[in-house]
Amino acid sequence: MGSLTAPGVSHARRRQRPSGGKDPSDPRRVVCVLLDGVRHDVLQELLFRGDLPNLSRWVIEPGGMTSGTTVFPSTTGVAYIPFLFGRYPGPANVPGIRWFDRAGLAGGLIDRWRSARSYCGPQAASINSDIEAGPSIFELVPESLAICTPITRGLARGAHLMPVRRAVLGAAAHYFGGYPALDRAVANAWIAMARRPWRFLFVVFPGPDGLTHLLDPAHPQVLDSCRQIDRALGDFMRRAVASGEPPTLFVVADHGASPVREHHDVALELEAMGVPTIRHPMHVWRRNARAAVMVSGNGAAHVYLLDSERRAELVDRLIRLPGVALGGYRDARDGVVVARGHLRAHLTEHDGQVTYEPLLGDPLGLGCQAMQDDRELLARSLTTEFPDAPRQLLQLMSSPRSGDVVLAAERGVDFRGPWELPEHRSGHGSLITDHMLVPIASSLPLPAAPVRSVDLMPTMLDALGVPVPDGLDGVSFSRLATPAGALR
Ligand SMILES: [Zn+2]
Repeated sequence: MGSLTAPGVSHARRRQRPSGGKDPSDPRRVVCVLLDGVRHDVLQELLFRGDLPNLSRWVIEPGGMTSGTTVFPSTTGVAYIPFLFGRYPGPANVPGIRWFDRAGLAGGLIDRWRSARSYCGPQAASINSDIEAGPSIFELVPESLAICTPITRGLARGAHLMPVRRAVLGAAAHYFGGYPALDRAVANAWIAMARRPWRFLFVVFPGPDGLTHLLDPAHPQVLDSCRQIDRALGDFMRRAVASGEPPTLFVVADHGASPVREHHDVALELEAMGVPTIRHPMHVWRRNARAAVMVSGNGAAHVYLLDSERRAELVDRLIRLPGVALGGYRDARDGVVVARGHLRAHLTEHDGQVTYEPLLGDPLGLGCQAMQDDRELLARSLTTEFPDAPRQLLQLMSSPRSGDVVLAAERGVDFRGPWELPEHRSGHGSLITDHMLVPIASSLPLPAAPVRSVDLMPTMLDALGVPVPDGLDGVSFSRLATPAGALR
């Protein structure tokens, strides 16, 4: 954690300006730099070694860095929704990087292909129209620019920089590991932006996640990509301060990662149980399908059971599969049942109070039967194996597009076959600590309360003097700073 002193620039003076965000003379600017998939402890270690001098100087010294939590499923795309919309994936009705649309099942070939939604490939842009939330921060701050983001909704024409190079270099990076070239292109576009007029800049570096999948979360190539990004931050800031007040900076990640030792393909397990199962990439038109498995990350899977036959038996067998850490399913009456092996608990929410009621043992290891404030339960869950699990299971299962049961993988396991191209040696997506904790560095002082990635959007709007819309899932750092704010 850095000091809690105010940044060198006078925030008091900046806050006195009228709000609005549409005043072209308003000097307040915000940059959000997203290092896709960088683990919080990897970034912390590099900082301690003195390898990230620009992050240290421009962000940590005036503000600080903490380990926050992301969303479930902890995967790219889905986990960007909190930063850009201030909502969880469940209420935004995009429950995974893949999900199944039951309505398409009765249609023709194209409908059925579309119903097995996957944002990895030709359907990638559909995420923009599938998100049932808004406005995005790009709409609230019309003077926004973004580099290399998979979510572009609300950006003005021409405000998404290098979309073609993102597609070409991104594909090359995915199949041939050319992530340094992709990140270099992002860095060059970013530095070139410094002197252009903008108020909000969203910069995405895909390299750390891509290299992590191919190698390891702490591989020297991943560390080197962080050092390169730090150099770009320095170059950008030197130019930015030459043409105006320093922007407020946030440096974040969307999810963590951990090495994968075993692949357990849930769809193949269902086939072995005699259940024809729709799955990617080749079986989206599976004949006489009675289930669909949609994998995210690859440590999370939504399982859709398409008829009621054997339902209770199949749910129970899925939760007990090797490699499954947790399962969640909607309770017939109210709330969500969380299951770990034979252990069961019941989660409900009323008026911001979350009730965790152990039914058989204590699957989340919370050691309590309690109705608790959302933020208190977050704090309590941080020391368990499944940070923020009560809130994350409730938000995810609120989406009608979620499966009948959602599975989270154990550490070291993912849910896809070894045929994934390229094979994932590391992954993410699950509810485990390695995947859920993310670095959150801010040039504004951090609150004492634990923070989530969903808190960033209202915090960034506050820093810009733009009114925060009602109904967001996140809370601005300024409101979390006080005990009253922490209690919402
Ligand atoms: Zn990834």
